[in-house]
Amino acid sequence: MPQDKFDFRFRGGRLCLDFAATLGGRYREPVERLAVPADLGRWFRLALSLPADLPAQPRGLDDARALREAVHRLVHPATRAKPARSDVELLNSWAVHPDFAPELSPDARSVTLRSARTVEAGLATVARDAIDLLTGPWLERVRECAFSDCSLMFVDTSRPGQRQWCDMKACGNRHKVRQYRKAHAR
Ligand SMILES: [Zn+2]
Repeated sequence: MPQDKFDFRFRGGRLCLDFAATLGGRYREPVERLAVPADLGRWFRLALSLPADLPAQPRGLDDARALREAVHRLVHPATRAKPARSDVELLNSWAVHPDFAPELSPDARSVTLRSARTVEAGLATVARDAIDLLTGPWLERVRECAFSDCSLMFVDTSRPGQRQWCDMKACGNRHKVRQYRKAHAR
């Protein structure tokens, strides 16, 4: 079943990249997937496998969007070489909050996240993930999907490091269809 354009995308391989993907289609018609506070609460439940949506208020939504755009600029291949001081400061201001702590289950095979279930803890978790990505070995493997309508970023963990698409079925195929149409347009 094709995804609705407002469905969340989890193709980035990193929490902070999936968070950045809550604003989609950045180059043509932006799709705001965090339209109301409840969307943010639901995103955290899905992204972190929480037992329930986080309670979110309009203020939290504003904070989330601001952090999201800072993360996007800091990580994106086109802008990451020149980090803005204000983006770094915003990231740090969230990373300083307590994030979710992992708790191992008694059988030692699954994990639950514990903390006060707040948007602040969620944004702290995103900010810390972004810092880890920015200062670790995978940053240079962060790419943007090659399909021209798609602005999703992902970590290319493939051995050759030549992954082009956020998702082969979605964007790879759409690209092929477009190339085919162009070639047969005359
Ligand atoms: Zn894509």
